[in-house]
Amino acid sequence: IDAAEFIKSQIRTVPDWPQAGVQFRDITPLLQRPKTLRMLTDLLVERYVEAKLDYVAGLDARGFIIAPIIAYELNVGFIPIRKIGKLPFRTVSESYELEYGSATVEIHEDACRAGDRVVIVDDLIATGGTMMAGKKLLERLGATVVEGAAIIDLPDLGGSKLLRENGLPLYTITEFS
Ligand code: IMP
Repeated sequence: IDAAEFIKSQIRTVPDWPQAGVQFRDITPLLQRPKTLRMLTDLLVERYVEAKLDYVAGLDARGFIIAPIIAYELNVGFIPIRKIGKLPFRTVSESYELEYGSATVEIHEDACRAGDRVVIVDDLIATGGTMMAGKKLLERLGATVVEGAAIIDLPDLGGSKLLRENGLPLYTITEFS
């Protein structure tokens, strides 16, 4: 059994959370054990060790758990991309559509500089809306988004395909259909 398969086996599926019909993919068992936390972060660190990154960006909120570990190991900075209203300084924002309503994410306008190379990290890609908004924010600051990385892809929702079609290479460790 390889690392990705083992990681998949340790993800917990919670039926009907946060609402009926949703199968929530829960990464907390991966974080709980040092072995799986290390397997997961080592895969990402190895992937980007030669990528000449300037920053690792994390998406609110579960991206915030993984991204700083990768940034620390690569000796680069961490950028938080947050849900609206949380960042204290001047921000740039992007809104996107959800199944019901919309969401807005923000980045500090001085989070990085034109030409900086950034990877965006989150736990899961569903419709791809959150990752796409993160890419747009970083690009508005002039950054080069090298890749999007997530532990889990839900390919049936089409987000990973959409992101790739829109010029964002993706690295995902495992998928659920
Ligand atoms: P998207 O924007 O539709 O791709 O949804 C992805 C965002 O929703 C990510 O920030 C995820 O953390 C969150 N999300 C959606 N479904 C799940 C799930 O089953 N487990 C964990 N996070 C999820």
